[in-house]
Amino acid sequence: MPDNTFSESALVIFSGGQDSATCLGWALNRFRHIFTLGFDYGQRHHVEMECRSNMLAAIGSDSELPVAWAEHLKEDTQLSIGLFDQIGKTAMTSNMEIEFNEKGIPNTFVPGRNLIFLTSAAALAWRKGIRNLVMGVCETDFSGYPDCRDDAIKAMQIALNIGMDSHFVVHTPLMWRNKAQTWELAEQEGGKHFVELVRTVTHTCYLGDRSVLHDWGYGCGECPACRLRAQGWKQYAGKGEAARNGLSSF
Ligand code: ZN
Repeated sequence: MPDNTFSESALVIFSGGQDSATCLGWALNRFRHIFTLGFDYGQRHHVEMECRSNMLAAIGSDSELPVAWAEHLKEDTQLSIGLFDQIGKTAMTSNMEIEFNEKGIPNTFVPGRNLIFLTSAAALAWRKGIRNLVMGVCETDFSGYPDCRDDAIKAMQIALNIGMDSHFVVHTPLMWRNKAQTWELAEQEGGKHFVELVRTVTHTCYLGDRSVLHDWGYGCGECPACRLRAQGWKQYAGKGEAARNGLSSF
């Protein structure tokens, strides 16, 4: 691969979940210097923050991952954002039943969360002189969260560039992928061993359950996030099975 492929730096918004871990792998193959950013916004469970530390540690030391990754991975930053909980309780930040409103938006939705994440990431990137921002938002399986949509992110990119007099590029490698295709991307970027790390180290479950390791990873298996993850894994693993048996997956 030509050396100039890795000519730039990127800041990856990395939560410790499946989607942002896959984006991290994607970015490690495309940029020379990878910085990571996590947010402590009063999440109901701190397990995600532990998972992100474990994942970063693995990328920095695991010899079965692509050799350049440990070298490309640079500084991690964690920012505290306490304002969401002050604005109002959601099922993401406090202990309440997960429900859906009349528009199909679950009460795990933290209004404006991704917009504030992206603004904070851009402010940090501006300080560090980083042009590329990478975020694991997805319109295909967007769980009803309107700030995951492509138009919202594109509008943010324009606003950030005007407001900070910059030329940020917001990369969203998962935007048009479903969960099965996100597993496929993890395999494509980091191989089977990376898929295994994403499966066992990352966290998605809204309830913070890490008591049982299912074939799709840890979680309660019942909340909307676990169901989406499990369904995607089943489809991804099924395709692999079909390919091994010499069958078309279509
Ligand atoms: Zn769950």
